[in-house]
Amino acid sequence: PMQKFVGELNRMDFDNLNKRRLNMGLEHDDELRILESSYNEMLDTLQQQKDSYIETQRTHQQELERKVQERTHKLELANQQLSFYASTDPLTAIYNRRKFFVLADKYRAIALRNKHPLSLLALDLDHFKCINDDYGHAAGDKVLIEFTQLVGKLLRESDVFARFGGEEFAILMENTSAKNATRLAETIIKAVENTHFNFEQSEISVTVSVGIAEIISDEENIGGLISRADKALYHAKERGRNQYVIEGDDLLNA
Ligand code: GH3
Ligand code: MG
Ligand code: MG
Repeated sequence: PMQKFVGELNRMDFDNLNKRRLNMGLEHDDELRILESSYNEMLDTLQQQKDSYIETQRTHQQELERKVQERTHKLELANQQLSFYASTDPLTAIYNRRKFFVLADKYRAIALRNKHPLSLLALDLDHFKCINDDYGHAAGDKVLIEFTQLVGKLLRESDVFARFGGEEFAILMENTSAKNATRLAETIIKAVENTHFNFEQSEISVTVSVGIAEIISDEENIGGLISRADKALYHAKERGRNQYVIEGDDLLNA
């Protein structure tokens, strides 16, 4: 019987639950029977420990995956926030100068490829220093915010509107000649002129001057376009503000 016992042990398949028990069909309640049942009990205990180990590992794995997912999500949110702050002007919530350049370079490439005109409006609020002096800096801030909202409503979806800093803004208009861009300039100038910006008990009036330039050569980059629009803006200021000037025309009509 001892030989049979050893033989059964050797045939045991530990990976198959059904074949992992000894069953020698022993008739007598002797030491071999005790050994057989102790052996089976030991196998059961081992199996229970194995199951509980696998369960612990699985829970651990799930917890790990949950933590990784949570961190990835937080990282994605942080990245979104970072890219928002890197491209947005904090006061007015429109694009900042940096983002404007990124978009404008793309618009320029598309315009040149399609042989479409591309125009830029440089805007500067007139005598803005007086608003700060007369009503305080907070009033000036509110005017800047409301000016941005007012202009924003007048734009096409494809126009790129950015605050360059202070009371200076730019609008890039795709597939638009300088001549056609005057329509938006005119609309903005009139709308700003006719708006009363409210601050506490005061009604504040402000005007805006606009310089317009259109990209004229493949050689010109956005920086060049901006400096020509700025030149036109300078002439609009010189001519008495609250008006637009097209770059090139300003010299002819001066
Ligand atoms: P001009 O018609 O020639 O443009 O005159 P201006 O007074 O608008 O121009 P100037 O460049 O002399 O002054 C700009 C003023 O804008 C000065 C500055 O205090 C104010 N300013 C710039 N940034 C901000 C801002 O974020 N908030 C407020 N409230 N004022 C600002
Ligand atoms: Mg200015
Ligand atoms: Mg100004």
